[in-house]
Amino acid sequence: MSPKRALAKQLSLIGKSGIRDFFEIVQNQKGVISLGIGEPDFETPWLIREASIYALEKGETGYTSNLGLIELRKLISQYVLKLIGVEYDPYEEIIVTVGVSEALDCALRALIDPQDEVIIHQPSYVSYVPLVVLAHGIPVIVETHEKDEFRLSPIELEKKITPRTKAIILNFPTNPTGATESEQQLKALAEIVHKHNLFVITDEIYAELTYEGKHFSIAAFEGMKERTLFLHGLSKAFSMTGYRIGYGCGPKEWIEAMVKIHQYSILCAPSVAQYAAIEALSKGRKEMEKMVEEYKLRRNFLWKNLSSLGLTGCYPRGTFYYFPSIRTYGLSSRDFSYRLLQEGGVAIVPGSAFGQGGEGYVRCSFAARFEDLQMAVRRIEKWLKKIEKE
Ligand code: PLP
Repeated sequence: MSPKRALAKQLSLIGKSGIRDFFEIVQNQKGVISLGIGEPDFETPWLIREASIYALEKGETGYTSNLGLIELRKLISQYVLKLIGVEYDPYEEIIVTVGVSEALDCALRALIDPQDEVIIHQPSYVSYVPLVVLAHGIPVIVETHEKDEFRLSPIELEKKITPRTKAIILNFPTNPTGATESEQQLKALAEIVHKHNLFVITDEIYAELTYEGKHFSIAAFEGMKERTLFLHGLSKAFSMTGYRIGYGCGPKEWIEAMVKIHQYSILCAPSVAQYAAIEALSKGRKEMEKMVEEYKLRRNFLWKNLSSLGLTGCYPRGTFYYFPSIRTYGLSSRDFSYRLLQEGGVAIVPGSAFGQGGEGYVRCSFAARFEDLQMAVRRIEKWLKKIEKE
């Protein structure tokens, strides 16, 4: 049998990431300004990089506990308490993973039996659907809409619940829409979760990048800690994507089940990166807050300027993405992005990469230097004038 025929059938159910697909094209173009990437453009703060060098010098290069260094888990516990007001036991309720990505994978594989349904709001992060499928679950999509500021409607959520629904994945602030949920709205979602006895995986990787008001987590409502896995990491807020440090906090049994998978597949998150994370969480807050302030200025600039060119959309209250509508231009999001790249020299991501509900929109990242944002706006203005004449 050829290797192709021998590969697991489950794999044939998942497609190529719409983002990767598009970036293969971008990489071959010269002089492009990229507002495409979902990654901080800041260098990792020096004190964090220095801590990793020091860990190497000291020879801290062995395996750590499967759960991660206890010193790091204690810091995570304190950090999360401050961030969302929920206290997790560093010995039993926290696991350090290889990014939120691995935490998501383990969380789903630990929870889902074949054919269990998992509700996902879309447009949303590209990994959720494939990871549910790889865990042999069935993704069930609830679309969110611009008119609701891309928030998840409790009524729409409830309509999708069936006897097979096991869990829902939440992501606020949301990639790609920049949506956030208020305390009141999350409370309404929590009530539905309770009523139907569901579990929640809440990916709050952009929590610190909340520009209006306070960030709330569904895990903080009464009775929710027992049924929620809170996922977070250092990739975005601390600009540490390549370090690959994330974590999951939740009920002891769920964490134990995740460890069962993690101990055989990954063993532990990289030790040097764990030492860097200790430095970030203990001494990196000021540096992180400076970056968040800068994102906020860029958000204001990009939103104002693209809106004035006709690329209007919801004000991004969180993340580093703006998700304007392109419906008036009569092009699919893929054609719009492809032509802007080829003819205008600016890379953005087609909204369709984030699910069907993303069609008609594009994702513009403001994790880019101010000068690049200014130049991108000028190029987009020129290109829009050109296509408006067609
Ligand atoms: N979750 C969301 C919503 C993301 O946007 C991303 C990366 O873009 C991730 C998770 C992956 O995070 P990590 O680098 O911690 O694996």
